[in-house]
Amino acid sequence: MDLYFDNAATTKLSERALQAYSDTARLFWGNPSSVHRLGLEARRKLDEERSAIARLMGIPSSSLFFTSGATESIAAVISSLLFTTPGKIIISRIEHEAVASWLPVLRQHGWKTEELRAKGGFVSAEELRAALTPDTKLVAIMAVNNVTGAIEPIEELVRTVREYEKEGRRRIFFFSDSVQALGKVEYSPEKLGIDGASFSGHKINGPRGIGMLYLRNPSAFRPLAPAGGQEKGKRGGTENLPAISALRAAAEEWLSDQAEKNAKAAERKAMIVEALRSCGYDLISPEHSSPYIISFSSLLPSEVYTRMLSDRGVYASSGSACSNNAKGEGEKILLGMGVRPDTASRAVRISLSNSTTDEEIEGLIAVINELRDAR
Ligand code: PLP
Repeated sequence: MDLYFDNAATTKLSERALQAYSDTARLFWGNPSSVHRLGLEARRKLDEERSAIARLMGIPSSSLFFTSGATESIAAVISSLLFTTPGKIIISRIEHEAVASWLPVLRQHGWKTEELRAKGGFVSAEELRAALTPDTKLVAIMAVNNVTGAIEPIEELVRTVREYEKEGRRRIFFFSDSVQALGKVEYSPEKLGIDGASFSGHKINGPRGIGMLYLRNPSAFRPLAPAGGQEKGKRGGTENLPAISALRAAAEEWLSDQAEKNAKAAERKAMIVEALRSCGYDLISPEHSSPYIISFSSLLPSEVYTRMLSDRGVYASSGSACSNNAKGEGEKILLGMGVRPDTASRAVRISLSNSTTDEEIEGLIAVINELRDAR
């Protein structure tokens, strides 16, 4: 039996999402921009899916734009800065590469950049306040960290930025990469007062290649490449309607009874943490973290321990799964938050999904116990 615990990297497409994908691909295959009947039907379907997802997320549908994934949503926002006179961008040291990789590009174009430490996993309002300058144009702090699950104090950070804005009558765009927050912690972009946020379909049992961009005030946003004018000119290119329908189905499943599901995940996390602690492993995830992510340090190098898990049918990650492409990303994030290098090199991430079963949890705990003395 495969015991899949790498859900922060990707989740399995749900049956309902798969069905929705194939239904829409079969029945609504017209181009939503065409003005004939098939196009108009596809357009109606697109509008319906957008409204349904926006309702589930508690945001106006006019603030929701579909993209090919969170990486593209992030790129749309950050690349739009290149249109404007260079200023300063502030991010945290624990951002995903999809955000962090923009810093050298911006510097090349004359931008000043600053990366805030995230001591113990959290960005502090004091540090953010100290970094704000009159030429700051964008602050990007993720809502939930993908390696440790740390839930960032976004509300307080937004408040800090808004207070600073008032002092000097300037506008700063507050962006939050919210991929690991949607459906996994209590989260509302509207309530937080952020200006933009990125989301990904494949982290909530939806398909790959579909993501979302939330824009509080879309009219103020000018993308670098509007192309064919789709998505009200915010994201050109023919809409991936089957994937959007699948995302709606996945969101309906994942976001319904969310509090109950999150509580269940928290219960399971506590069981896993107990097993890890009884083996003498250090927990890296802070107390205030996502119930779906557990980061810990075993007694062996990450690669060795994850290989031993894998040999026993348990699939976890040696950091951020994206680190397998961008080498060492998970470790970089851990070092960025002040984890000791020897602890970071032994870090393993176990991540849960709402489709994780009790049998999988039992199987995982049995394997953790079996490897208890591995060193
Ligand atoms: N941001 C975070 C925090 C992530 O965990 C990921 C995926 O690993 C991404 C961004 C990129 O998402 P996508 O695969 O939709 O581009």
